[in-house]
Amino acid sequence: MPDLTREDVLARLTSFRQYLHDGERVPHKPLLVLLALGRLDSSGSSVTPWSVAETKLADLIAEFGPASRTGRAQSAAYPFTRLRNDKVWVLDRDVPNDGVGLLREHGVTGHLDQGLEARLREDPRLLHHAARRLVEAQFPPTVAADVLVAVGLDPDVVLGAEDDVTDLVERRRRSARWREQVLAAWDRQCAFCGFDGQLGGAIVGIEAAHVRWFNLDGPDAADNGLALCSLHHKLFDRGALGLTSSHSIQVSRHFSARTDEARRVYELHDRPLRPRPGTPLPAPQYVSWHDRQVFKGDPIAS
Ligand SMILES: [Zn+2]
Repeated sequence: MPDLTREDVLARLTSFRQYLHDGERVPHKPLLVLLALGRLDSSGSSVTPWSVAETKLADLIAEFGPASRTGRAQSAAYPFTRLRNDKVWVLDRDVPNDGVGLLREHGVTGHLDQGLEARLREDPRLLHHAARRLVEAQFPPTVAADVLVAVGLDPDVVLGAEDDVTDLVERRRRSARWREQVLAAWDRQCAFCGFDGQLGGAIVGIEAAHVRWFNLDGPDAADNGLALCSLHHKLFDRGALGLTSSHSIQVSRHFSARTDEARRVYELHDRPLRPRPGTPLPAPQYVSWHDRQVFKGDPIAS
């Protein structure tokens, strides 16, 4: 069999069969591959026993996936067994899909396909390219670095990896004008807390945030954007903060803080957005997408 080209390796590691309904986030398989890449990068082997996946992969899915009613072990068993069908992942024992009981009973172990693993081991840059593609396809920039740290990859190395391989899918380009328009429409201040810091006359720590993520088909539209301070942008993208259909800020019950400074986040709960006259509020379809796909479960009590 001829050697796999770099494009072959990237295509196999980043194109899985997914069952998607209208922008639903299903980051389970990408998170398993990222976890395996992290293990391969740090230890030289992608071998991952079910006992590790059951805790570590379940943590990743709970932390970075959409809120779910599925049990933790079940959420990890889904990619651990089903990634086999994508010629990426191999189990050392033939078990049925999604079966947590047999994975536990037999102490099943998984690893990346040997051909893929051999290519990645001899070419660490290729490993970093694959990780970058995966993480950027699934998460916004505010979240990508957190995911990489959680799987044991260095975000500076991975996100700095130059993509010198021809893109398989032409990437959508972000619009610099959209950013300017959103910041101007919200008076260059955080739509949640009003932070409007400047450094030498230029705004600092204020960013244009997509309500529906850009990498998951959120458009660069005025009604899909908010100006947010860096902290609230991060908390919004991680699902600690959300919005109701009537544009009140919501704080997730899963967010907790101890110091007075951090507890000020609680004070945002139920506060309305305050746009200047004429600024379009986020459109219902984007608010609803964020609520279903990003916001972490129930809000704190009003
Ligand atoms: Zn803020």
